Amino acid sequence: MRVTVIGGGISGLVTAHRLAPHHQVTVYEAADRLGGCLRATTLDGAFPAGLDIGAEASLNRRRETRELAAELGLASVFPSPAHSSQVYARGSLHPIPKRTVMGVPADPADVAELLGPAASERVAAEELSPPIPGDDVSLGEFLAERLGADLVDTLVDPLLGGVYAGRCRDLSLAATVPALLPAARNGTSVLDLVRDLIAARETKAEPPGPVFMSLVGGINRLIPALAERIQAHGAQIRLGTAVESLTAVADGWSVRTAEAEEAADAVVVATPAHVARRLLAEAAPTAASHLGGIPYASTALVLALVEVGARPLEGSGLLIPPTEASFIKAATHVSNKWPWVDERLPAGTAAVRMSIGRFGDDPRTWQDLSEAEVVERAFADWQSITGRTDRLVAAELRHWDAALPQYLPGHAEAVAAIDAALAGVPGLELAGSAYLGVGIPACIERAEAVAARLETTTTDENTKKEQE
Ligand SMILES: Cc1cc2nc3c(=O)[nH]c(=O)nc-3n(C[C@H](O)[C@H](O)[C@H](O)COP(=O)(O)OP(=O)(O)OC[C@H]3O[C@@H](n4cnc5c(N)ncnc54)[C@H](O)[C@@H]3O)c2cc1C
Repeated sequence: MRVTVIGGGISGLVTAHRLAPHHQVTVYEAADRLGGCLRATTLDGAFPAGLDIGAEASLNRRRETRELAAELGLASVFPSPAHSSQVYARGSLHPIPKRTVMGVPADPADVAELLGPAASERVAAEELSPPIPGDDVSLGEFLAERLGADLVDTLVDPLLGGVYAGRCRDLSLAATVPALLPAARNGTSVLDLVRDLIAARETKAEPPGPVFMSLVGGINRLIPALAERIQAHGAQIRLGTAVESLTAVADGWSVRTAEAEEAADAVVVATPAHVARRLLAEAAPTAASHLGGIPYASTALVLALVEVGARPLEGSGLLIPPTEASFIKAATHVSNKWPWVDERLPAGTAAVRMSIGRFGDDPRTWQDLSEAEVVERAFADWQSITGRTDRLVAAELRHWDAALPQYLPGHAEAVAAIDAALAGVPGLELAGSAYLGVGIPACIERAEAVAARLETTTTDENTKKEQE
């Protein structure tokens, strides 16, 4: 079978990796590099081993990334247990409470230091609300009604914002924190539910292991390892080649780029939903119209090398709630978080990663600024929040435009409708971060499911042909 994979991010490459041993695979990538949201930088040679300037870790408690890394011969590394993250609230930094489900505490006393007495009393005095009318609700609205706006603004929003670059009042409870959905659907206490979930977590016989993993050189190292395996099976990778349109033809698909038109038996569209919408407009208009309803957030990262001298950084990073007047929304103390980075940095220096931008931002707040202005403002903000005066040695800004899909209430139904519409279009599949989850494991899960479905279809068709 000739398979065309459109998009050379983790989703497209995992699909290609699974299909390349048995099929004739071609990957089209619009950019001049593979990886999409996974990207390395050496900061102009200042850190030759390379650091992530896109995604920087993957959930370790899901199997997908861990197992893929092991299969590719890459050893997982884990964050240092010596450091933890903080949240900036009311002018100072506070430890992030540990016993929570996405910021909702098992015990309201655990958030008292962070929120102050009045707001933590409001959390404790949960106001029950009737069962929600449909299957889904805004996560932020639901929790604000139950537990008060302060918990949502100070803790839930920055925690969730780190994943989606979105505001939790916009996002779907069912798609982002499904563990809390029963309280909304049944009109029962969310505090009781979290207490039960955390008790179950704590009574597990085996310790759960580190939450996150990465690789030496960064999680981006998955990309060259995948590309090598894919090409070893004879697959073609075409960089700098955007697919412009897809047309269903008698015996498959016609894939058009600026230079050529090529035939395929099956096509996997592994681009962001806004590109998939355009490519599917003719072949699968119902799916395309649902894809058009998935908005995206833009964000940016500044990665900096900082001279800290004899005064090391504290903690693995900090989150800043959107209610604080701050240019950055988070900072990761990369060299405290990842021991492999610390081991490779010159003595007296540290690596800091600062994130900017949330869904719905006015472009004038940061998108329209020059690189020098963004770096200067981000670093000044970080210095003022941490109370430090370190010297900036090197820095790089990377814009991530329309990169993070926003899972609005009703997202799961929209994805079910997309999948149902595609079930009637043989040989056309969608992979990517817009469907099952934005994290790397969810992208791998979807990509593997797509590859398995195409394998089954070909096996079924071959059996049918043999029988005829
Ligand atoms: C700044 C940032 C930080 C993140 N941090 C984390 C993290 O720490 N952990 C985590 O689990 N997740 C993280 N994520 C999310 C995760 O990285 C992404 O959801 C995931 O990598 C998406 O992979 P993908 O292959 O589906 O899409 P993408 O990575 O977007 O790849 C799609 C590819 O398609 C290409 N393309 C687009 N149009 C065309 C076309 N017409 N023809 C051919 N090619 C085309 C693009 O150039 C791109 O390379 C982060 C995301 C961002 C933006």
